[in-house]
Order: sequence, then structure tokens, then C-alpha cells
Amino acid sequence: GHHTDFLNMNIEQLNQHYASLKERYDEYKNQNMKLDMSRGKPCPEQLELSKSMLDTVTSSDRLQASDGSDCLNYGGVDGIPEAKELFAQILGVSSNEVIIGGSSSLTMMHDTISRAMLHGVYGSEQPWVKQPTVKFLCPSPGYDRHFAICELLNIEMIVVDMLHDGPDMDAVEALVSQDDSIKGIWCVPKYSNPDGITYSHQVVNRLANMKTKARDFRIFWDDAYSVHHLTDQPDPLTNVLSACKEAGNPDRVFLFCSTSKITFPGAGVAAMAGSVENINYMRSLISVQTIGPDKINQLRHTRFLKDMDHVRSHMAKHAAILKPKFEMVLGKLESELDGKNIAFWNKPNGGYFISLNTLDGCAKIAVKMAADAGVTLTAAGATFPYGRDPRDRNIRIAPSFPSVKELEKSIEVLSICIQLASIDKILLEQ
Ligand code: PMP
Repeated sequence: GHHTDFLNMNIEQLNQHYASLKERYDEYKNQNMKLDMSRGKPCPEQLELSKSMLDTVTSSDRLQASDGSDCLNYGGVDGIPEAKELFAQILGVSSNEVIIGGSSSLTMMHDTISRAMLHGVYGSEQPWVKQPTVKFLCPSPGYDRHFAICELLNIEMIVVDMLHDGPDMDAVEALVSQDDSIKGIWCVPKYSNPDGITYSHQVVNRLANMKTKARDFRIFWDDAYSVHHLTDQPDPLTNVLSACKEAGNPDRVFLFCSTSKITFPGAGVAAMAGSVENINYMRSLISVQTIGPDKINQLRHTRFLKDMDHVRSHMAKHAAILKPKFEMVLGKLESELDGKNIAFWNKPNGGYFISLNTLDGCAKIAVKMAADAGVTLTAAGATFPYGRDPRDRNIRIAPSFPSVKELEKSIEVLSICIQLASIDKILLEQ
């Protein structure tokens, strides 16, 4: 980097720096900006890419699935065949290992864990809730809504560090081998939320092979960003269901995904997958809850997305919109913060986030200062269980929704706030 390491500056230099940064901060504050980088929402241009999907189903069409069933009527609790086939391709499983849901994969995750609490999973001796405590491993930073599900259901969360190639597997193996109240682990295996990390082959294999004290342990494999690449060289991800089968643990994993960030987050299609035993058990419970999900939306999606080749070319259009935004954020972070030794961030090959770590104890205050200047970020701490980042250093940046111009300003403001917070901390410690 071309900047001076803040940790090598003397007090006078730091104070000078602070004064000029504060001036820039106050200027921005006076502009009364209102920029939102808090959630990973697609921008309007991205939504536009799928608008024509709405025309694939019209009142004059035959609204029959490939098996001849009428999509307007009851039936098909686990989805129409062509939707199962499409999601099987996306998730790398067989179509008889898939259940199609409603519009949200988060709902399927929530319901899967709720059912496990009430009834157990395939092979459980008793409902999870019958145990004095139920615990989940939470690789962190991670997805706040996963943690919210655990919190709601009173599932104790154990933080496991995210390393450069996935969760700290030494820690995971040690924990699951000793404690039979640990029933699950949250995984976002590809372009993880928020780190943008893809699990290595070794990590996937260790997850599939590890000895778990709980015989009904489950991996919650949230493959939300499986086709959401930002480069021509996608990160490879080992097939977890195959790995589990090879390890002799075919029932260990539930996979989830949706088209929320392929078509529409408000009107997409979600799916889950797993071994035939897992899926049969799940289907039997789901069929009490509903006679079936929205098959018209499944028809729309399969007519529009067709197959993996079409999904890939459709996702390339998303990437073309998102890439300049990620480049703006990364470029701005580099020009503002690189070499100062106060912030460290990932350069993801896909997904929706850039994860940044400040010096310990600086994230909350930096996010608050940015908010005071009109730039809303994901709440500091949200990427950890119970909203508590033990080192108060992780900031999740969601570049998808704002325009490139808005991002330029927002990241400048954030960078100023991080520097101010860092100088405050360094001076306090001197
Ligand atoms: N999982 C992850 C990791 C996410 O980042 C998100 C947010 N897009 C979701 C799940 C939510 O997915 P859905 O819209 O299918 O509920």
C-alpha cells in the first residue's frame, strides 16, 4: 500500500490526520444523504432482467406440468417434475431428492428446524426439544437470519471461526465429537454471507466424514449463492450430498436454495434437498401443513430459466450489473484504507457481500458514525450469534442495491468513519 501505517504514526500526525478527516466527515454530514447498504437486495436493473418471466404464463396458456397435472388445481405437494429437475441441477442432486417450496428458502430452513424440534429428523430417537438443551454450531461471521431462527427456538449458538476456506474444522470436529446436544451446523458453502468464502474440498469432506456424538446431527447447507458468480472462473464447490453418501452418512445434510437472487426475492421459488429418506420424511410432515405450494410460479420459473445453461447465461447478466459495484467498493476501500493497517477485507468471486474487519472495538462506532452521516449499513454485530461480535470488528457491506455513484460516496463516508474510529482507539491506547 501507498499509505502510512496508522500504527506507526506519532500522536501529532494522528491528531492532524483526525482533524482533516473530521472536516471531510462534517461536509458529508451536512449533505443529508440517505444511502442504504444494509441488506443484500438486488437493484431495480437486476429485477428487470426477469420481468419477461411474468409473461411466460398467461390466461390463454395450457397450465399443465410435464406430468399432465393442472397447475391451477390442488396437488403436487413437493413440486412439479420440471421444477424438481431444474433445482436438482442447481443443487447437484437427483430430482427425487428435491422438495420445492414457496418463495423463501429461509422459510424452509425455519420449518425444517421447527419440525426437528417438534418431531425429530429421520432417524431421531426423540424430538430435539425433549433434550435439556439443543445447540447449533454457527460459523461466524455468518448470516444473521440463521442466527435469528436459533434464537427464536431457544437453540444455543456456539461460535466457530470462519477461516479462509470455511469453518475452523479442528474446532468443529472437537465440538461435535463430544457433545450430543449439538444437533446442527449452519453453512453457507459458496460465496458465504458475509465473507464471500467458498468451502474447500477438504472442509466439505471433513464435514461429511466427522464423527458426531448426536446420531441425528444435521448440516444446514444454505447454498444461497451457488450460481451467483462475479468472475468467469467460479469457485469450485465439492458436492456435499455425494460426499456424505461416500462417507456413509447419507442423511447428514439438508441443502437449501432459492431463486430469490436469480429472479425475484419477493416472488421466487425455493427448494430443499437431501437423501431420499430425509426427503420422504420431510414430505410426510409437509403434506400435513399444506396441500401444495404455488405451482404456477414453478411453471413460470421453469419456462423462463429452462436449464443450467440458461441459468448460467441469466446469471452472467446479473454479474454484469453487480461487477462494477463490487469493483467500485473494492477500489474505494483500497484508495482510502489500503496500507493503513486499520481495515482488512475480502475480494469475493461471487455472492452479495464484502466483509470488512476493522481494528478490534471499532466496528460499532464506525457504523454509527456512518449512519449519522446518512449511510446505513448492516448493524455491527449482526453477523454474529445474539448480535454480539466478540471483537466488535466486522462490517458487512452490501453493494448490490445502490448505484455505482452512491457506492462511491457511501464507501468514502464509511472509510472516513473507520479511520476516525481507529485514530480514537489508537490515541486512547497510547
Ligand atoms: N440464505 C442466505 C445466506 C442469504 O443471504 C439469504 C438472503 N438472500 C437467504 C438465505 C434468504 O433466502 P430466501 O429469499 O430464499 O428466503
